[in-house]
Amino acid sequence: MPTGRPRRAPGTRAACFAVLDPATGEPFEDAPDQRPEELDAVVGRAHTAWHDWRTDRAARTTALLAAADAVDTAAAELAPLLTREQGKPLAESYAEIARTAARLRYFAELDPGTQPITDGRPVRSEIRWRSLGPVAAIVPWNFPLQLASAKFAPALAAGNTVVLKPSPYTPLATRLLASVLSAALPEDVLTVVTGREPLGARLASHPGIRHVTFTGSIPTGRAVARGAAATPARVTLELGGNDAAVLLDDVRVERIADRLFWAAFRNCGQVCMAVKRVYAPARLHAQVVEALAERARTTVVGAGLHPDSRLGPVNNAPQLARVEHCTAQALAEGARAAAGGHRLDGPGYFFAPTVLTDVPPDSPVVREEQFGPVLPVLPYRNLDEAVAAANGTGFGLGGSVWGTDLDRAEAVADRLECGTAWINHHAELSLAQPFAGIKESGVGVAGGPWGLYGNLTPFVVHRPEEP
Ligand code: NAD
Repeated sequence: MPTGRPRRAPGTRAACFAVLDPATGEPFEDAPDQRPEELDAVVGRAHTAWHDWRTDRAARTTALLAAADAVDTAAAELAPLLTREQGKPLAESYAEIARTAARLRYFAELDPGTQPITDGRPVRSEIRWRSLGPVAAIVPWNFPLQLASAKFAPALAAGNTVVLKPSPYTPLATRLLASVLSAALPEDVLTVVTGREPLGARLASHPGIRHVTFTGSIPTGRAVARGAAATPARVTLELGGNDAAVLLDDVRVERIADRLFWAAFRNCGQVCMAVKRVYAPARLHAQVVEALAERARTTVVGAGLHPDSRLGPVNNAPQLARVEHCTAQALAEGARAAAGGHRLDGPGYFFAPTVLTDVPPDSPVVREEQFGPVLPVLPYRNLDEAVAAANGTGFGLGGSVWGTDLDRAEAVADRLECGTAWINHHAELSLAQPFAGIKESGVGVAGGPWGLYGNLTPFVVHRPEEP
């Protein structure tokens, strides 16, 4: 969380906080530091706007399609700002913006329909879907726009209004996005609030909110659920992960190495469903380590705005400290860095892409979510033990199995305790598929029609066939 004394933006009376560029560690712009007391008026306006917004699905579709076009048109303005505050390479910011527009289009066209209930009774009844009311969407800093759209696109398509709170590390592109969307959406249908805690806590527990949809860490998710428990709101939680990739003994290492590397290191490893642990057959372990380490050593790390950068900085100082601490602890426990293992010299929050071997299996870098550009590669002799180790944490977001015999790989994937399992891939998601973590990684379902229904409530009228 950005610290420092609240300041006032030049020429205004509003309190602000500084947003830092992670490539330099220096502040570059201010964002409004809204007070929790302001939420009463914001939620009240969202409630008023809901009355019209919920009534006409065709009008919503038109508005959301126009909103998607507006996002595409503003990409050249949004992308550099997103890179500046988040750190990711510019091409990835453009991809995130394209995904945001695509998600708006997908949900704009998705019709929840009505479903008849046929159970043999002489009653005509059908499920009709109703919106919930104002939705509180709280998101983290790793994919500020993409994750925000994963909340507001289905919520708005369902006829709800949304109060969106980005992370204080990345409020700027979200504020710009809201102003871009305001050209297509009625007033107060989507409101962005920015500020430091307890703004999020107060939003999650606001009595006027009907659905709290949160993406972030497990401890904060628990706090959000506790806060919302005193209100009538539904709660959806998309939380942390610690995904395992299990390599089978028929895997062709050179064929999969690029995909596996980027599944772990994209966005500097700051992806909830990044590969965070690799289990490799002992016979192939050294080859896997070297293939990944060679890529880690040669990947260009630098400011996201530099055209050659493939990896940017870690987003913020506490996150960098966490990555550093986990890595140092593993090294102190006897691990060896086949690549990286340290911060990079100079300003900014840069950490060398790190591949670790000889890591004790119960080291925090294996068992906890370090959420950075660090990848432990662990050898196994017995596949059952590898599957047990993959399943042996409290996390349950994603997992993957890599091998040549696809039937065998699928049988192993079927044994993974998580919401999504990939074969020879990782973290590829269709807009049309459900996305849900199990165990501590989440509550509720996002994505596809399930994401839409997660923002609706069923309404059933029972009508007899005879008066
Ligand atoms: P975080 O939990 O610290 O913060 C997430 C959001 O909650 C931010 O907007 C933050 O300001 C806000 N917040 C902080 N305290 C709050 C409180 N008491 N009440 C309400 N809101 C509060 O997470 P982070 O560090 O920003 O993001 C990284 C985490 O997000 C990782 O654990 C990662 O795995 C997870 N994540 C999960 C998914 C998923 O889909 N499952 C996707 C992306 C990130």
